[in-house]
Amino acid sequence: MHTPLAYLRQKLGNLPCADALEAYHAWWETTGRGLSETVDRAGTPWLRQRNRLGERVDEILAPEGYSTLVQEGYKHGAVWRVIEDGDWQGSFALGYITSYYDPGLYCPHTVSLSTAVPLSKYGSPLLKERYLPKMLRRDGEAWQGATWMTESGGGSDLGANVKTVAVPDGDAYRLTGEKYFCSNVNAELAVVAARPQGAPEGVRGLALFLVPRYREDGSLNYFIRRIKDKIGTRAVITGEVDLQESVGYLLGSAEAGVYLILEVLNISRVANSVGSVALLQRAIDEAEAFARGRVAFGKPLIEHPLMHRQFTRWRNALDAAFALAWESVRLLSEVGMQTPPYSPRYHLFRLITHLAKYWTAEQAAQAAKWCMEVHGGAGVLAEFGVERLLREAMVLPIWEGGSHRQMLDALEVMQRRGAHTLLLEHLASHADPAELQAWRERLEAYLQQPAEVQEAELETLIPPLAEWVGECLL
Ligand SMILES: Cc1cc2nc3c(=O)[nH]c(=O)nc-3n(C[C@H](O)[C@H](O)[C@H](O)COP(=O)(O)OP(=O)(O)OC[C@H]3O[C@@H](n4cnc5c(N)ncnc54)[C@H](O)[C@@H]3O)c2cc1C
Repeated sequence: MHTPLAYLRQKLGNLPCADALEAYHAWWETTGRGLSETVDRAGTPWLRQRNRLGERVDEILAPEGYSTLVQEGYKHGAVWRVIEDGDWQGSFALGYITSYYDPGLYCPHTVSLSTAVPLSKYGSPLLKERYLPKMLRRDGEAWQGATWMTESGGGSDLGANVKTVAVPDGDAYRLTGEKYFCSNVNAELAVVAARPQGAPEGVRGLALFLVPRYREDGSLNYFIRRIKDKIGTRAVITGEVDLQESVGYLLGSAEAGVYLILEVLNISRVANSVGSVALLQRAIDEAEAFARGRVAFGKPLIEHPLMHRQFTRWRNALDAAFALAWESVRLLSEVGMQTPPYSPRYHLFRLITHLAKYWTAEQAAQAAKWCMEVHGGAGVLAEFGVERLLREAMVLPIWEGGSHRQMLDALEVMQRRGAHTLLLEHLASHADPAELQAWRERLEAYLQQPAEVQEAELETLIPPLAEWVGECLL
């Protein structure tokens, strides 16, 4: 039987936190699936901005069971495992199970982790004492985090488009600006990109701030302007936020802000890769279940040579995508607590993560489309459940930096840090020596071309490179 747990067992052998994974998987089968369907069917939640007295409350009315759905992952350790035990692999294995059943739900867990990690690395002792224990609760009341960088001008070019300004105020700052895409907008804490007053233009002038939802007197620290009405990912509530002299606490130093922002994004990119592979598996499993039961021309669909060949190809693609994504998890477990200046291992992690984010998301989107096609007309009917996979998959190549951004960032880390050399060294014990040599020559020749050609031709380089790296790591 194909299940996410069985697949993890097959790929990883000894599972990290095996008992928790088994319990979490069982919960999904008995309870989570139903809650997830309800939340998806209910559509966009309602924002009640004012109470009966007309006072601003910004309350989000989510479907019944939403909180149970979100909190189960925290109970099992989506966040506390990393912060308390350093068990990144356990957290990402839980994320794999979450995403198999509900890819959108992995976003709240991810952005909470991407908040807790910089808080634990860069927060002052007072901040950590005040907020971390709340994020690590295991009783179904864990505080959630969120990561808000993007503003209305666009998310790829944060240096040009982040207009939020942070003005010093005692030992804190006051942030004013508008955040256009705010996932997990119902969270109690957010890490927010803003420009300290007087800081230079561009990405180097940005810093990372911890912004609580409520001020110490219990009043709202920022305002939710509206909830986004999205194609899918309804298990994460995405909104727009107005920061109006909102209290924020600087994390780390303002000068290193851009690195902290990238660290946050890189954690989310690893999670996006793991979630994409889980969706890929789900699409193949759903397609297979249908193709075994549906008979055409006298035999089950799966026994027809053309269909059979497609299944073999997708299962191979799944294994390579998993190997690539899990390598970025392994490397993150090594380098996730590093601070700038980073080791070469961190640059290797970055290259593998850009390749993984790009490749797995593209594969997931294609697999979701193919899964619908295998179902024929039934694929477009909501009652078969696979149209949802397509709705969920479409965002995977976009958020956390789109596919163009991943290719461009992969190029940058090769050009500036020689990460391709580190990659080839890393693969030396896995790869066929002739292939390794061919890639060395290809990459070196590629990087000799004029800068504009290197950018323009990335689609001839990155997809085959990502696929090859995944296959080497099998
Ligand atoms: C459902 C959802 C939830 C989100 N949640 C959050 C969140 O919680 N926090 C947050 O900060 N952001 C969030 N985002 C924003 C997301 O990170 C951005 O959508 C993403 O970074 C791309 O930015 P953009 O949409 O503004 O596109 P743009 O930056 O305007 O880019 C448009 C297109 O141009 C491409 N492009 C950009 N630069 C180049 C280039 N140099 N060369 C070639 N192509 C290029 C992009 O890849 C993209 O295809 C969310 C987005 C969605 C859809």
